[in-house]
Amino acid sequence: MARVEIRKVSKIFAEHTALSDIDLVVEDGEFLVLLGPSGCGKSTLLRILAGLEIPTYGDILIDGKVATRLQPKDRNVAMVFQNYSLYPHLTIAENIAFPLRVRGTPKDEIDRKVKWAAGLVGIEGLLSRKPRQTSGGERQRTALARSLVRDPDYFLLDEPLSNLDAKLRHNSREELRQFQDRVRVTSIYVTHDQVEAMGLGDRIVVMSGGKVRQIGTPEEIYTRPADTFVATFIGSPPMNLVETGDAVLGFRPETFLPRDAFAADADILSVPFHVRRVEYLGGDRLLYGKVTQVLPETDVLARIPSSVACPVEAGEEVSFAVLRSELRYFDRQTGLATDRQHMAPLRSVSHG
Ligand code: ATP
Repeated sequence: MARVEIRKVSKIFAEHTALSDIDLVVEDGEFLVLLGPSGCGKSTLLRILAGLEIPTYGDILIDGKVATRLQPKDRNVAMVFQNYSLYPHLTIAENIAFPLRVRGTPKDEIDRKVKWAAGLVGIEGLLSRKPRQTSGGERQRTALARSLVRDPDYFLLDEPLSNLDAKLRHNSREELRQFQDRVRVTSIYVTHDQVEAMGLGDRIVVMSGGKVRQIGTPEEIYTRPADTFVATFIGSPPMNLVETGDAVLGFRPETFLPRDAFAADADILSVPFHVRRVEYLGGDRLLYGKVTQVLPETDVLARIPSSVACPVEAGEEVSFAVLRSELRYFDRQTGLATDRQHMAPLRSVSHG
């Protein structure tokens, strides 16, 4: 296991800056997720950590030692990619054993390690099958087991679940998390799927345009987004943003509820909500509409549990509110989160 440090790393391809001044520490045993839209630079960063690319500027340190220019074979790193690249003519056991064979590991040690790794990922019963006789999820676990037998210092995973269907993806995510809780190997996991990122990561690094926007636990990123990009990239549906005179005001759809859901003395911002459409999603209802009067007229969404009676029908206007403690403020120019104490004018807008 290892502590992985990324120091002021930039990567420039010809004219294009793929990564700009990335500073990041992955703690020993941590599961860190790199999350961002297509083209944000996450795979480039992973390739630099693997030794497949050399940064234009900056350094990579593994356990305090500079490893920036080390070849992949000279780093004790295991990579799991979308394409598991198992050998079709070898059995699952032989696939897992492959990196040990190449190293000339004695047979009894290979057998022991294959059993151990297969046990960790729950595929002991499949060892004599060929990959084509297993499911996508089982192949993914085989690829994980194959990386595990090498005792890597750190794992790099590039969207390893993206080939799986929704249900399998959910199960595999759960398994991956349980597996990580057992082995606690430093892992860096790339995805553009925020649900996967939230479910898996000890911390998430949100990237866009080659830059780090925010680093934090899933809860920090969700509840305290560092800027309007993170506020709208994380969360489905995204955070509501309303441009007011001197700030952008943000609130999550599930915090925006009928006025009478709050106690009479609750410190809330209450606004008329004109509902255009109600969408039933099973566990929740999404209410599409506009806030009017108190705030500048803006399209917003409310998300309310289906277990409570729907308080409004399409075409109606009712009083909705949000706790002031749930309001987030962002600078209009920079989009960066600001301390709400500086937003005195907004605090006087309305009191329910
Ligand atoms: P995706 O989710 O689509 O895989 P990503 O966030 O992993 O995207 P990268 O693959 O890291 O993005 O690419 C970051 C940027 O760098 C992109 O604009 C890409 O076109 C560019 N890029 C990547 N590799 C090269 C290269 N070898 N030469 C030139 N440009 C490159």
